[in-house]
Amino acid sequence: MKYPKFTLMFLLGTFIFTSSCSNDAEKTDDIDNTDDTSDAISTPLSAFDEFNSDSVTISFDGDDITIDSNGTPNHTSPYWEETNALYIEPVVAVALTPGRIGGDRSFTVTVPSAPEKASSSSATGLGPIGISVTGVPIFNDTEGPNRPLEEQIVETFDYAGAHNGPSGYHYHIESSDVAENTVLSQDDEKLVGVMADGFLIYGRKCSSTGDYPTDLDVSGAHNASTQHSDGEAFYHYHIINEFYLGTVIALFAVDLQGTPNSIM
Ligand SMILES: [Zn+2]
Ligand SMILES: [Zn+2]
Repeated sequence: MKYPKFTLMFLLGTFIFTSSCSNDAEKTDDIDNTDDTSDAISTPLSAFDEFNSDSVTISFDGDDITIDSNGTPNHTSPYWEETNALYIEPVVAVALTPGRIGGDRSFTVTVPSAPEKASSSSATGLGPIGISVTGVPIFNDTEGPNRPLEEQIVETFDYAGAHNGPSGYHYHIESSDVAENTVLSQDDEKLVGVMADGFLIYGRKCSSTGDYPTDLDVSGAHNASTQHSDGEAFYHYHIINEFYLGTVIALFAVDLQGTPNSIM
């Protein structure tokens, strides 16, 4: 009786040993992909289905994806003209910046379908640094030259974390947890948009774990699967789960890890 038991344990041991070995090999491959950037993984195309098709046109052309938006959101805001069906009285904004949503605007960026990390990161500048799923451009954590978002500016944000400026309506911060907010990422794993380097940005949580990721790099990014990637890990950003000012969470206050493409 002892001999068969030993054989069974030996076989079991061999199986466990073999399977853990192959797992290690897979992990090593993943790490190689991110470190030398020689083997970029394509952005899952189903993510682009989430963009607001009333404002955004996505064109796929070989190794490139072009995102073109008129910058108008599919949600309510006090920044709409009062005659617009999506106009609402301010919910969180204390004061409004001049101007309204609309006008003849266009934001276009062409990104690689398989973006790669650059050898060095890039600081973001004034103006659009990404395009959100609603079509509204994403701005960084500054308002004008050398002017970080401060209380007087934060007071002008609507519940979407946006206000109006010379280049139109744009997001700076994560949206507010209010009943009016039905489409935007708020402390969850929703897709936020695509950044100028072609990497996607998601909310504060990651669908790979359903929780706040703990393995983010300095830009709030990591290699993991998302609700769009069918289990495959790829490099993407998250809104970093950190207060920027008071209870405000910046959408993107860090460097881009890929090569920025200009948003014209
Ligand atoms: Zn602004
Ligand atoms: Zn993630």
